[in-house]
Amino acid sequence: MPRTISILGATGSIGTSTLDLIERNSDAYEVVALTAHRDVAGLAAAARRTKARFAAIADPALGAALAEALAGSGIASGAGASAVVDAGAMDADWTMASIVGTAGLKPTMAAIARGRTVALANKESLVSAGPVMLAAAAAAGARLLPVDSEHNAIFQCYDHEDQRRISRVILTASGGPFRTLSRDEMAKVTPAMAVKHPNWSMGAKISVDSATLMNKGLELIEAHHLFPIGADKLEVLVHPQSVIHSMVEYVDGSVLAQLGTPDMRTPIAHTLAWPDRMSTPSPRLDLAQVARLDFEQPDLERFPALALARAALEAGGAIPAILNAANEVAVAAFLEGRIGFLDIAFIVRKVLEAYSPPSPTSLDEVLAVDDSARLEAMRAMESHSG
Ligand code: NAD
Ligand code: MG
Repeated sequence: MPRTISILGATGSIGTSTLDLIERNSDAYEVVALTAHRDVAGLAAAARRTKARFAAIADPALGAALAEALAGSGIASGAGASAVVDAGAMDADWTMASIVGTAGLKPTMAAIARGRTVALANKESLVSAGPVMLAAAAAAGARLLPVDSEHNAIFQCYDHEDQRRISRVILTASGGPFRTLSRDEMAKVTPAMAVKHPNWSMGAKISVDSATLMNKGLELIEAHHLFPIGADKLEVLVHPQSVIHSMVEYVDGSVLAQLGTPDMRTPIAHTLAWPDRMSTPSPRLDLAQVARLDFEQPDLERFPALALARAALEAGGAIPAILNAANEVAVAAFLEGRIGFLDIAFIVRKVLEAYSPPSPTSLDEVLAVDDSARLEAMRAMESHSG
């Protein structure tokens, strides 16, 4: 029996890597639903190739174009945010949640509510909705498997039986493309420079987050929800080669690490085959070729976003959702050339200082916090640019 699978965010970097694995083993999988934001051609082509049952485009204005692109294929289609949620709610054994940002929150929650396996790449939704999402997964009996390379590495090294055996979890960070730049040099970097990651090929938003180190900050919060050993036991270590994807230290001093080449198909395949393993075309790790592995402490002064995220993790409640929403708005503005690189963390800090709403206890409350933080971030950008 083929396994039924859906991909939310099928046209992105994680989505296409997932499709690559599925299409190499097409007899083993039956594709239920695929979604995209605006890439009608990419979505329709993937849906036709995989004989998906349903394709949803998030932009409501593109519904007719998608229907036309799928004409004669027998593939049903829908448009608008609600169609993407419908895609998430369709019955599938395994769903890849790889929409970027809190735009992925409702569809991911719809997939979780079905009580099957959700491979989670969409870290922003877990950062925003952490306790609400975990409670929904527990209530539905859904299993969340981490796709993010660090969390997937931790998952592979973790003692799931008794976490008291663990003394520390160390998330590695490449340090991004500006690891060695001064603040003055960073003030001048362009979006094109920021999206060029030294080791990984990823979507624009996460690439900018990797350059500010906000990505590592979001990952600390993500790790805190997935591996509840205490915030004081979560550390970040800069490791420019991105060979060690993260480490788990045990009380006896043993440190377990997961290594590999920087190819997201490896952690995706881990979640797709789990608890089994499947082969992938990922390049093999050649340590003699790598020759050396370097490590350094993250510099919180040059990369204040990491300190903001650490503080948000410790504060909890609505603060991580505010941090995330403000960051999404600021990163989008940076990518559009409306603010500078250093303004991203500045704006996030302004929004965090502006207010602090009560802890959200439902999906609607999380979305309300997300909305209000977005408005606050726009205001902060207006007053910042005068
Ligand atoms: P991407 O920009 O390449 O792809 C994003 C996907 O989300 C696309 O399919 C896009 O159509 C869809 N999307 C965007 N906005 C949407 C909206 N408003 N409504 C519905 N769909 C929308 O991003 P990516 O690099 O694939 O990252 C996806 C997620 O995975 C992010 O949360 C990212 O942090 C996480 N992640 C990515 C990587 C990586 O290597 N790319 C690694 C770890 C985690
Ligand atoms: Mg990561």
